[in-house]
Amino acid sequence: MTIDTESFRAALLEERTRVEQAIANLREDHPGRIDDEVEEIAQITDNHLADTATATLDREIDYTLAENSGRMLGAIDAALTRIDEGTYGTCSTCGREIASGRLEAYPWASLCIDCKRLAERG
Ligand SMILES: [Zn+2]
Repeated sequence: MTIDTESFRAALLEERTRVEQAIANLREDHPGRIDDEVEEIAQITDNHLADTATATLDREIDYTLAENSGRMLGAIDAALTRIDEGTYGTCSTCGREIASGRLEAYPWASLCIDCKRLAERG
């Protein structure tokens, strides 16, 4: 494993700031509505990756943005944790290395492309 985790950490922190700003913008547009839900969804995503399509997703486009942002934050934080734990860049399903090109495109990726495809196929 020769990937430069510090540069990925920097990329993740930068992306995290960007996502937080996007969430802040949503809050400005809809004060008092999105806040709690984003938190909630981030936690749901963290704990139950398969359960993200909850029954409450009956909102308009802003809600989808908030959901995606919340999921992004969860994925970014998980990636930062993996850097700290020394497991960054390793597929969390099969344990193989994630291709560096994939990490550069998606620094928060926790699955190799093969496992990702399997997961998406359901
Ligand atoms: Zn894998």
